Amino acid sequence: MTNERSTILVVEDDRATRTFLADNLTADGYELIATGSAREALRLVETRFPDLAIVDLGLPDRDGLDVLREIRAADGIATRIDPALPLLVLSGRVGELHRLRGFDRGADDVLGKPFSYPELRARVAALLRRSERRRDRGRMRVGPLEVDPAARTVALHGTRLDLSQREFALLRTLATDPVRVFTKDELLRNIWGFRAIGSTRTLDSHACRLRAKLSRDGERFVVNVWGVGYRLVDGPVGSRAAEAGVADEPESLEELDEPDEPSAAAPDEAGAS
Ligand code: CA
Repeated sequence: MTNERSTILVVEDDRATRTFLADNLTADGYELIATGSAREALRLVETRFPDLAIVDLGLPDRDGLDVLREIRAADGIATRIDPALPLLVLSGRVGELHRLRGFDRGADDVLGKPFSYPELRARVAALLRRSERRRDRGRMRVGPLEVDPAARTVALHGTRLDLSQREFALLRTLATDPVRVFTKDELLRNIWGFRAIGSTRTLDSHACRLRAKLSRDGERFVVNVWGVGYRLVDGPVGSRAAEAGVADEPESLEELDEPDEPSAAAPDEAGAS
């Protein structure tokens, strides 16, 4: 089922479940790392670079949701934790609210207990396939814009751009899915960490600077979807270049409360509200 052996981290304090998962996933060809502690889980993510983590929410030392939050909050710069690590949550807490909370904290998938092993295996395989495709792509190309996450470089029309670490992290996130709208909370969580939630002005000012740096040749990247968040492009790249208004860095933070286009929002943006 897997071409190369992917490493899976199982974070589950119940010994029987942990052993069951480890044995079965090993038999299915995966490399396994297992722990029953949240603290140890974070250490293993940072030192062993698993390809996917299965995280139980009820852990003795910390809530499994904290593990998710810390992983997603990693900036990929200061720590070696990969904030994009695929996360499958096992939740013994039944109910929609808990499932939603798992997704809210960054789970890629949530499976309630008791679970069926074939279903878990199928979901694990699907998550790994998705992240492999993402990795295969490696360099992300959006029209004339090229983002190389490994080398941490950005080029526009072949010319290297000088971005700050946060600007780069923001661009890298947006470029993973160029037309998708990323909510402000999501971006803050991914790039600044959980504590930053609510300080949308920090995000807005970085987005504004990033947009200015990417708008040098009139292209329109980093689209503010008013009241929701940002996306990298709002349509086929190139066709809208002419109408791009290069956003200057705001004189004061107050300006950030105003839409970045002085005129009424374009119809496609208005549709998002
Ligand atoms: Ca548990």
